[in-house]
Amino acid sequence: PTSIHQITSGQVVVDLQGAVKELVENSLDAGATNIEVRLKDGGVEVIEVVDNGSGIAPEDYSSVALKHTTSKLEKFEDLSTVDTFGFRGEALSSLCALSEKVTMTTSTGARSSMGVALEFGMDGQLMNSDKKVARQRGTTVSVHNIFKPYPVRRKELEKNVKRELNKMLHLMEAYALVPCTRENRGVRFAVSNQAHGGKKVEQINLPRTTSLRSAVSALWGRKSLDNLIDLDLEFEVETERAVLRRRGKDSSKSKNTVRVRGLISKFSVGCGRSGTDRQFYFVNGRPCSPGKVAKAFNDVYKTFNMTQSPFIVADFLIPTDSCDINVSPDKRTILLHSEGSLVEALKV
Ligand code: ADP
Ligand code: MG
Repeated sequence: PTSIHQITSGQVVVDLQGAVKELVENSLDAGATNIEVRLKDGGVEVIEVVDNGSGIAPEDYSSVALKHTTSKLEKFEDLSTVDTFGFRGEALSSLCALSEKVTMTTSTGARSSMGVALEFGMDGQLMNSDKKVARQRGTTVSVHNIFKPYPVRRKELEKNVKRELNKMLHLMEAYALVPCTRENRGVRFAVSNQAHGGKKVEQINLPRTTSLRSAVSALWGRKSLDNLIDLDLEFEVETERAVLRRRGKDSSKSKNTVRVRGLISKFSVGCGRSGTDRQFYFVNGRPCSPGKVAKAFNDVYKTFNMTQSPFIVADFLIPTDSCDINVSPDKRTILLHSEGSLVEALKV
């Protein structure tokens, strides 16, 4: 790394899953209903996300990949109630700083079936926007040779292609489950990978479904539903208004109701696997990994079933002013101000 920006960028995106997450969330924010992740050589060569969302307007071409350019926040107060995935304007600029180059094609659909090819430099500056291409409404973002300025991290990705792919697929499965734990956004996802130099393309489809159960059935087979029961908990927690507190204005505590909805495998069954590859946690529909809460689930479960971990899909519906999304650069570790009380509530 040669600049401060590269160092902070390295915290926004640390691996393949992190890169894909940022791109997919941009596509979701753009209202896409069809999102495809296309990798070459497990993402080492190219990570590409194709969507049918809103596209990028010509007046925004030059700024989208600049640091802290976001179209998603109107004013600072909005931070306490964000409901889009992105709001920091860091992902694209970080990906530019972390890779050899970032290219896009995009179209707002205004002039039918025509779009433009964009190319960005490492500093996020727009290098080229002259080339017209055939393009339906939507955006394709391609990240070429990720981590090129970070030889150690790049080696890490090259050496562990399989592991990194699996981590990324777990995230995509989580996205395929999201719309079903909340309102049905009806997004179809697909992931493909073209092996290095090879013609063979592996493809996985995560179809659009209408309920959580049908999503589980589509992902892991109808039989997997037999052992699952609905998860529907509700409890009171004491929370603080995080954003206000940080600004030194207020630290008032209030009672809030948290609901947990989803599916869990019956105590007698487990999911027949160890580890956490069949556990999906969300906070207000955002995939995340709430460490303590996940541990509480697993601990409670262990007292009934010593040998297996549960299958879990759990969406924590928490008033937005009591979960601070702004703490971790990758937003995956969402800090729950009430995590401790949640854990206690789950144990009873
Ligand atoms: P953020 O998502 O926090 O706003 P990003 O760096 O991820 O920041 O993206 C910067 C901006 O680029 C977004 O605010 C959005 O306007 C635009 N953008 C990025 N990806 C897409 C996409 N797939 N479709 C439409 N617009 C996009
Ligand atoms: Mg974003």
